[in-house]
This record gives sequence, C-alpha cells and structure tokens, in this order.
Amino acid sequence: MSRPRFSLGGLLWATFAAIALCGLGVPAVADADDSVSSAEPRPPLVVVRTVGAVSDADARLACRALLAQLQVRCEVRAGRPTDVLASAFDARRAQIDARKGLELLFRDRAADALIEIDLTGADIFEDGKPFVFGLASLSDRIAIISTARLQSSDESLYADRLTKLVMHEAGHTFGLHHHAQDDCVMRRDPSVVSLDDAPTTPCRRCRTKLHRRARTLARPGQLALDRARGLLVRRDPDTARQLLLGTVWAGEYSSAVLHEFGIAFHKSGQLDDAIGILQFLVEESPNHARGHVSLGVALQARGDSGDRAKAIAHFKRALELRPEWTTVATHLAALERRTG
Ligand SMILES: [Zn+2]
Ligand SMILES: [Zn+2]
Repeated sequence: MSRPRFSLGGLLWATFAAIALCGLGVPAVADADDSVSSAEPRPPLVVVRTVGAVSDADARLACRALLAQLQVRCEVRAGRPTDVLASAFDARRAQIDARKGLELLFRDRAADALIEIDLTGADIFEDGKPFVFGLASLSDRIAIISTARLQSSDESLYADRLTKLVMHEAGHTFGLHHHAQDDCVMRRDPSVVSLDDAPTTPCRRCRTKLHRRARTLARPGQLALDRARGLLVRRDPDTARQLLLGTVWAGEYSSAVLHEFGIAFHKSGQLDDAIGILQFLVEESPNHARGHVSLGVALQARGDSGDRAKAIAHFKRALELRPEWTTVATHLAALERRTG
C-alpha cells in the first residue's frame, strides 16, 4: 500500500462556487474504472433502533421487511430512551420536530451503519404539517418513523402499516424520491386511510433503482464518504479529513468513491483538499476521465498561479480519453480563448 501523497492541511470555509460539475454538465456515465467490482461485496448494513417506548418486536419486523425486499444486511440494536430526542420536543405541539430529531440522531448514530432507521412511539411533525409518519435524510441515510398513529387492534393491519413506512423511508435512505404511482410504496400517503390503501412494495421501476443503489452503497469506502459528506455540510472538515485519510490508508476505496470525496470537498469550499484528492486519483487511475475534469474544474476555481494551465492540461487529457465529451470541449475552448 503506497502512502497517500496529498496534503490535508486545513483551509477556511468558502461558499461553493456553482461552477463545479453541474456547470459543466458532466454526463452521468461511468468510466471503465468506476464500475463496481465483480467480486460480490457485502451488502450495505441497515441498523434499526428504537427510541423510547417501542417494542423490539417492531424493530425486528422492520428488519424482516427490509431483508425480504432489499439486498441489505439488517441488525436490530439496543434501544435508547426518549431523552435522545429531548431537544427536538415541541412542548406547544406536544410532538417531536422530525427534522431536529434527524439531526440529533445523525450525531448519535451507530458508527457502522450505512443506513439507520429509528422507530419512536412519539408523535412527530414537520413544519406546515399536522404530523408525519416518518422523515428521512437522503444524504445522511437516516430515517425516523413514528408508530404513534399506526396503532390498531388488528395486529396484521398494524404490521402492514409499519412495513409500508419502513419500506418507504428506507427507499429515501437509498436516495429515492417520492413516486406518484398508486402501486408504489414510494408514493405519498399523508393519512392513515391513504396508508391503508398503499402497497407494501416498490413499483418495478423503484425496485430496479433500489437493487442498483444497493450495489453502489456496498462499494468500499461508501460509509466514510457518506459520513464525510454529512460532516462537510455541518462544517466539520477536520473530522471529514480524518475519515478520508483513514479510508485511503486502509486502501478501502474505489476510484469512484475517491472521486466523490474530491467533489464533496470541492462543494464544501475545501479546494486545496479537493485538488489533493483528485490529483491522487488521477495519479492512481490515469484514465479516469471524470477525475481529470473534476480536477480541472477545481484548479480553475482556485485560480492560483499556474492553476489555469494545469486545468487546461487536465481537460485536454479528459478529451483524449473521451473525445466525444462535447461539454468539456466547449468549456476548454472558452477557457483557452480567455487565457489567450
Ligand atoms: Zn416520503
Ligand atoms: Zn416507484
């Protein structure tokens, strides 16, 4: 294992200049070296935990539902008292603010969980709504589900309701958005009546997406990448750097994950870090066209002496690798005209 060569010195935060990849219209296609390894990786780990008065049987039911429908591992971990969510409690409404709750749960989450689903017996709400059954963060891959409004004397009806919510919120943690389709568990169900009419499974399209995502989420380094992104958004680049370094030192990453680390640091304004990571990437994987483009974009954004010339060289290298990449060619031509 070679030692990581990039320096991870601290930098001040800056606002992300929106010139990054979206500005270049980078097509969503994978480089050859972005593909997921053919060796079957371990499925992503989902941890289910309870907060307050929820039975472990509910947590086990949640795991069973996930294992039946998704390519995941699932573990029920020890429950925690309601105190964990105390500062998210809105006394006026006598409900938990679900967004604040998710933030608290992010800080308290299981260290090894790629996805965490927390079940609470407390009623929860989101601004502008009288209540919500659940809420998930697509980026942090964490969800909170309330059983407060699911209760029924009919046990199978209760189990059905909980299964639908678990599948729906888990879908979000896999990055899926709502899907306005009657036969899809990713549809919106704002009332118990609507929930009782909903299916317990995703539609075919969403199921395909979930299977694909499960493979992506199983990539080496994904857990550290997700955590680093969450930390960068919360303005904790030092801990994000430690995660990145640990991942690189352990050699537990793919080039695709390293590329996404670089983009995450760029987006959070940590340009020196982003450039260091992306340089390391293209040295390790010289044919990573997207890596060259992302490095060019980061160098151009930093704009130190010599950065523009280096950026031009990386855009050219990307075009050698992928001559059909017209958005990069157009961008390069404009940059060269401005450089004179
Ligand atoms: Zn939803
Ligand atoms: Zn769907």
